[in-house]
Amino acid sequence: MPALILIDRPAIGMPGDGPAFRVLPVGTPVITATDLGITRGDGIFETVAIHDGYVHAAEAHLQRFARSARMLDLPEPDLDAYRDAVQAGIRELGPVKDAFAKYVLTRGEEYSGVPGARGFVHLDVNPAWSRERTTGISVVTLSRGYARDIAETAPWLLQGAKTLSYAVNRSVLREAVRRGADDVLFTTTDGFLLEGPTSSVVLRLDGIFVTTPPESGILPGTAQMDMLDLLAAEGFTTRIRDVTLDELAAADALWMTNSQRLATPVHTLDGKDVTVDRELTDRLNDQLLRRTV
Ligand code: PLP
Repeated sequence: MPALILIDRPAIGMPGDGPAFRVLPVGTPVITATDLGITRGDGIFETVAIHDGYVHAAEAHLQRFARSARMLDLPEPDLDAYRDAVQAGIRELGPVKDAFAKYVLTRGEEYSGVPGARGFVHLDVNPAWSRERTTGISVVTLSRGYARDIAETAPWLLQGAKTLSYAVNRSVLREAVRRGADDVLFTTTDGFLLEGPTSSVVLRLDGIFVTTPPESGILPGTAQMDMLDLLAAEGFTTRIRDVTLDELAAADALWMTNSQRLATPVHTLDGKDVTVDRELTDRLNDQLLRRTV
């Protein structure tokens, strides 16, 4: 059963003395036609995975939500309200194995004349990701159209914030399908690897596990960091650093990671075969699924 929670006071300092949130019947309209979140994509979101009732990387997601709000000059989200709302949503969902919650905060009404904010949380059962975790996916590289130093030289472009403006992130997936692939890795105009439209990327380069840094304007991924921590705990060398496209082409293994798909191996990159390390992938996903924090 999906669940919907309206956050009545989604941001710190918003007036009101009623409850912080309300569980609503699924399908209840919570956004109006003049909300900046839908008319301009002006707002932020987070998607968390819930496994056996535990929210994976719960605090890391909340901190990233607050970081996105700061980048957009939105009011500071009331993280306690979201924290409690998700727990209420989990109770509504009932005993499901694999679910997700999406937290949203918008800039609110365009014409109200007062700075506002609108917040809600939507929860549902996860679509089955397990097949691609086993079979792997085919990926194409596509240009993001800017250079590696975008976050530094043009911070107003909000690269690395998780905003509601994801039309480009959807459009590239349609382009991937046109090219016969499942997903995309973004590249910079000066020859570096960035991330996917909804995923981070982890590579194995000569036995060292490498992932790309937030300084290049990518979203700091929670699954990416948890995967690196697990690898380090197993004794592997890990690095967070820029990756050139030549290195990408020479990678001995490649994974796309996010909270829901976890570590999904890439079996084909730009039409060329990539080795899938099935044993390591299964072991990592098993541990990622069993996280309780
Ligand atoms: N990069 C982008 C652009 C994303 O949208 C996402 C998640 O949706 C990620 C990376 C991976 O983040 P996480 O591992 O926290 O789910």
